[in-house]
Amino acid sequence: MFRWLRSVAFTGNRCGAAQRIPLRRIHFFERFHQLTEGPAVLIRCPACGQGLQIAASYRSHTGESVTFDPENHPGNAVIHEDYC
Ligand SMILES: [Zn+2]
Repeated sequence: MFRWLRSVAFTGNRCGAAQRIPLRRIHFFERFHQLTEGPAVLIRCPACGQGLQIAASYRSHTGESVTFDPENHPGNAVIHEDYC
């Protein structure tokens, strides 16, 4: 159960704003976007509204290790627009 309490560091690619988001919340985003194969969830940066916040690697709700690959963006990533 402990892993549900973990959080993941997200860092803005434009303004550098960082925050930690609980893993269970990221899993909610994954379900919201119906992700099952582990594309990374990026978050519209709430600080500047233009950049994206990108996660360190984390484990998806299906147990897969997820790492955002900027080379393949946006093919392997989903942008969650309304985080606050
Ligand atoms: Zn920003």
